[in-house]
Amino acid sequence: MGMTKSVSKLTQSVHVGSPGDSLFGGVVNPIFPSAAYNYDEVVRYPRYYNTPNQLAVAEKMAALEHGEAALVFSSGMAAIMTSMMAMLRAGDHIIFQRELYGGTHHAAVHELNRYGITYSMVDAHDPQNFERAIQKNTRVLYLETPSNPLLRITDMAAVARIAKKHGLVTLIDNTFASPVNQNPIDFGIDIVTHSGTKYIGGHSDLCCGIAVASRKLMETITASALHFGGSLDAQTCWLVERSLKTIVLRVQQQNKNALKIAQFLEAESKVTNVYYPGLRSHPGYAIAKRQMPGGFGGMLSFDIKTDTARFIRKLKYIKKAVSLGGVESTITEPVKTSHAKMPEAERKQQGITQRLVRLSVGIEEADDLIQDIKQAL
Ligand SMILES: *Cc1c(COP(=O)(O)O)cnc(C)c1O
Repeated sequence: MGMTKSVSKLTQSVHVGSPGDSLFGGVVNPIFPSAAYNYDEVVRYPRYYNTPNQLAVAEKMAALEHGEAALVFSSGMAAIMTSMMAMLRAGDHIIFQRELYGGTHHAAVHELNRYGITYSMVDAHDPQNFERAIQKNTRVLYLETPSNPLLRITDMAAVARIAKKHGLVTLIDNTFASPVNQNPIDFGIDIVTHSGTKYIGGHSDLCCGIAVASRKLMETITASALHFGGSLDAQTCWLVERSLKTIVLRVQQQNKNALKIAQFLEAESKVTNVYYPGLRSHPGYAIAKRQMPGGFGGMLSFDIKTDTARFIRKLKYIKKAVSLGGVESTITEPVKTSHAKMPEAERKQQGITQRLVRLSVGIEEADDLIQDIKQAL
């Protein structure tokens, strides 16, 4: 079901890719578990990423991300690595922003050199740092905004302009913002990836990944995806499609809750720093306001004066758990989880302290969450 950008995301999230059941007139798409199809017209096969439930998710995600085409993968890392490797060959160079999701950082450090690919990591606070790091063999600029765990903001349009000037491909991990809040393609970014395990699934009960781009770039990514084989099964695709129908409602509530909690934390004497791009005190506020028209997201971090383990133990509703983007609020200590492997000196330089906690705000009532934080502090 094709829909133009002028149709609201609320409507797209419900209808695009979800025509229902043409056999019995049911309003939801059936699950098509077949791994073997008649081949008279097209060859359909799960690892070809073209079975009906895979296509339903891809269509919906392409619409929500303002792209021409999309693929659904079995994990966020499958989406990221397949998209990245499809753009690179031996002898090429890629520039990452320094503040990266831990898994991507680890993959860059441990995989790329083995394939003859070199990389640089730059401080993305100043987009010019990308340009300064460009070499003759640079092919890809890689961004992540807002970043994990300090919610730093990278100016997407500025990086996209640099890439266009030098004929490079831009790739972004848009997991934290979700397609509800931020559409990087509108700002000139070429390839958008997601860990669908987070806001897209939204219920902390499935693992998937998404890549969205122009038809032409997606053809290149699909060619590699067939070889790497990180496709997703029909049942999980059906759950992802179902989740996407409520993504706008969920994320809007998470945006509202996170802003309210961030404002509460900023005024709280037992909290020393609050990192949330929706706060005027955040150094990336102006850029975030421009490039996140849907909202500032449900992720925030803060430093507390008391012991983090004790604080987390005392929370009643907010669960101690890794991952993020679920309907339930969860909290982590980055030094023990996502950034445990990072050398202390580098953590210190980035501002990731022993007192830092990262909160993924759910869809509960904000005042109940604030009450919970208050009593735990
Ligand atoms: C979780 C996450 C990933 C990896 O996704 P998986 O689904 O776990 O493979 C990548 N980027 C970000 C920002 C994430 O939070």
